[in-house]
Amino acid sequence: MPFENGTTSRRHLLAAVPLLALTAAACSTSQEATKQEETKKDPGPPPRPATPDEAVQVLMEGNKRFVDGTPQVRDTADIKRIWTAAKAGQEPFASILTCADSRLGPELIFDQFVGDIFVVREAGNIADSPTNLGSLEFGQAVLKSKALMVLGHSDCGAVNAALDNATPGANIQAIVDAIKPGIAGATDLNDAIARNVRAVIDTIRAKSVLLRDAEAAGEVKIVGAVYDIKTATVTLL
Ligand SMILES: [Zn+2]
Repeated sequence: MPFENGTTSRRHLLAAVPLLALTAAACSTSQEATKQEETKKDPGPPPRPATPDEAVQVLMEGNKRFVDGTPQVRDTADIKRIWTAAKAGQEPFASILTCADSRLGPELIFDQFVGDIFVVREAGNIADSPTNLGSLEFGQAVLKSKALMVLGHSDCGAVNAALDNATPGANIQAIVDAIKPGIAGATDLNDAIARNVRAVIDTIRAKSVLLRDAEAAGEVKIVGAVYDIKTATVTLL
């Protein structure tokens, strides 16, 4: 019988190992039991996405929970553990470049918590400055973010201003001017919003050797998406 065979094998093994190793094994078994007991009480956080594709998938699944009104429920112990981990450092699995519009909050719409995503925001979700690009590079090169999502949204005032050839003046003009070339030929606002996202991705690839190389090496996936303010749904482009 398997049990008897197992017992016999173990006896042979026990006879062969030195006393020290036996003690270590006993301790290890005891520690293992304690660990299992702790695991039973606290299942711990879900594993971090292992690949760029998984990172994008986790974002999209989080958005589905947000849309469905079924966000992750975290108990006190879970939140305490997340805060404790955040104090020690950050390891966000994805970076999001999105608009400053107050109607979308990346952590909310992707149902993520502190420490999960590295967010860079600017009106029109543009990456026109070295500082914005530098932030995105930091997210990948230092924090090892596995996905970079450029997220536009419906009813974007910045893209609309560029589409209308508006001249708001002040420093706001720089935002409009940065968006205009990428949306040339757009048929309507939604088309312009999608074109802007694609143009921003082109800009990232053109102006950031670091991110372009990381993408080519399969270390990060750069994706475009649009958030619909009316339905709360994120759609990949
Ligand atoms: Zn916007």
